[in-house]
This record gives sequence, C-alpha cells and structure tokens, in this order.
Amino acid sequence: MVAQVISGNEVAKSIRAELKVEVAKMKAGGVTPGLVVLIVGEDPASQVYVRKKGEACDELGICSETIRLPATTTEEELLKLIDKYNSDKKFDGILVQLPLPKHISEEKVLLRIDPSKDVDGFNPVNVGKMVVGAADCYLPCTPAGIQELLVRSGNDPKGKHVVVLGRSNIVGKPITNILLQKAPGADATVTICHSRTQNLPALTKQADIIIAAMGVPQFLKADMVKDGVVVIDVGVNRINDPAAKGGCRLVGDVDFEPVKQKAKAITPVPGGVGPMTITMLMKNTVKASKIHHNWKG
Ligand code: NAP
Repeated sequence: MVAQVISGNEVAKSIRAELKVEVAKMKAGGVTPGLVVLIVGEDPASQVYVRKKGEACDELGICSETIRLPATTTEEELLKLIDKYNSDKKFDGILVQLPLPKHISEEKVLLRIDPSKDVDGFNPVNVGKMVVGAADCYLPCTPAGIQELLVRSGNDPKGKHVVVLGRSNIVGKPITNILLQKAPGADATVTICHSRTQNLPALTKQADIIIAAMGVPQFLKADMVKDGVVVIDVGVNRINDPAAKGGCRLVGDVDFEPVKQKAKAITPVPGGVGPMTITMLMKNTVKASKIHHNWKG
C-alpha cells in the first residue's frame, strides 16, 4: 500500500488563502480582526512561536500587537494587562503565550481572559462549550487543526474508531471531545489511552484512525497498527542523530517509515500537525471578530 502523506503545510496554506479573502472582505466592510499576544520572559521557543504568530497575522491582514514583558512581571501586573485588553475593542483575540514563569498561575491567567476573546480555547468556559458542542466556542488550536487535517485530506472520522494516545488538556482530551460531537467532521467512536492503559497495542490494532500525542519518540510501531490505518502524529521530539545537522533531529511519536508501509494515510514530523496550530489561531481570531462585530458577510 502506498500511503498518502498528509501535508500540513499544504492544508494550512489553503486555509490561510481562504482566511485572507475573508479578512479582505471584512476590512472592506470596516471590520479589522485584531489579536494581541502577551509574552512573559525570554524562553527562546516561545519567542519563536510569538514571532510566527505575528507574521501569520501580517500575511492575512489581521491587526496584531505583541506585548513583551520581563520575567519579573508579577501575576497582578499580568492580570491587570489582561483586564485592559479585555475591554479594548481593537482586539478580538487575546493570547497569553505559555508556559508562564513559575510565580504566575496559568489557571488564574486563563480564567481572566474574556471567554469571547479566548482564541486559544483554554478558558474553562470555552472548554465547557466545546464539550457540549456550542457553535460560538473557540476550539483549541492543535486539536482543531487535527480535525481539519483529517477532513481536508479525505479521511473523515465519521463512524470510524479513533484511538487517541495521550490525555493532556491541550491535545488528547480536546481532540477526543471534538471528534465525539454529533456534527460534520466528527461522529467518531473514540477511545483514549494514557500511561495507565493496559494492553495498549490491543486497542491501537483496532483503530481506523490513531492520533498520537504522548511526547514519546517513535512510540507507535508497525506491529501496533492494522493495515489501512490513518495516523496523525502530534508528537514533537528532538533525538540525537550524529548524521543530522547539529547532531539531532525532530521525530514524532510514530515510527514513521515502518508504520507508513501499513498506513492508508499518515502525517510527517515536521510538516504535519505543526503548521496547522497557528493557522487555527488565525481562524479563531477571524471568528472572534465576526462574533464581536455581528459580521454576516
Ligand atoms: P503531555 O501533557 O506530556 O501528555 C502526554 C500524554 O501522553 C499523557 O496523557 C500521558 O499519560 C501519555 N503518555 C506518556 N507516555 C505514555 C506511554 N508510554 N504510554 C501511554 N501513554 C503515555 O503532552 P502534550 O502536551 O499533550 O503533548 C504531546 C506531544 O505533542 C508532545 O511531543 C508535544 O511536543 C506535542 N505537541 C505538538 C503540538 C503541535 O502543534 N504540533 C502542539 C501540542 C503538543 P498520563 O496522563 O497517564 O501521564
């Protein structure tokens, strides 16, 4: 079987092209979507993510501002700033880049963001709305990107048995809830596995679709899947490889080449789920702007 390699770059590109058209229409009608990103401290990976978010906004015509705060910023100062942006009509979305320094409670910060501006989808109000399938919720970006990848690559999860590996609040639990909805692009039967799951290969072997989000390099082996499986690899792991530039390379949670031999479709790492995350943030920001401005165009 020759597996379809699902390109997140290509899918993300087509969604961005659609969004660009929508944003242009909105701007012509006097509405400019806006996103403010708050980053605390100097974490190098976070700096890269924040820069990429700004670039994506520029590409689509979304107004964006990045507020860089020193690592010494107090929780109270950050909460006050969130209050300020909660009432600033210029911004439809507020994103606080995670992780935060240890002296700031992520829980308090995420709770403080106005749910109607929570384009990351982590405020418990949006998590609850996601679970009940409310139309006005913002889905968390990585799981929403996984759903788009499945649907747009012609691998609709409807009626399929999906096995999710990992139960984190940012990937495993939300993708389970999203695919379980009685809705287009969902309607799946979902099994979720974690580190206490017994006989995990017996479950993955039953799966029509496997979503691997554990953070364990090349965990999913070919003998754990059935022929014709669809595999979405969310993992991003750096492993030592003397032959690679810099002595290390990125791999996912899937043993890519052997699993690909049995798969109907599979996402690569990098270039699979990764490019979807920021694109879905853009989609949520446009959605927030439409809701705030009652945009019907
Ligand atoms: P996480 O919070 O560390 O959660 C990992 C989950 O995997 C946990 O539920 C854990 O079980 C489970 N697990 C770990 N080892 C296991 C094993 N041997 N067998 C079965 N289950 C096991 O991770 P995360 O934040 O969801 O991220 C997962 C991966 O996705 C990471 O590599 C991360 O870098 C990547 N990621 C990528 C993107 C992207 O945009 N591409 C976005 C987010 C995350 P317990 O709950 O029992 O501990």
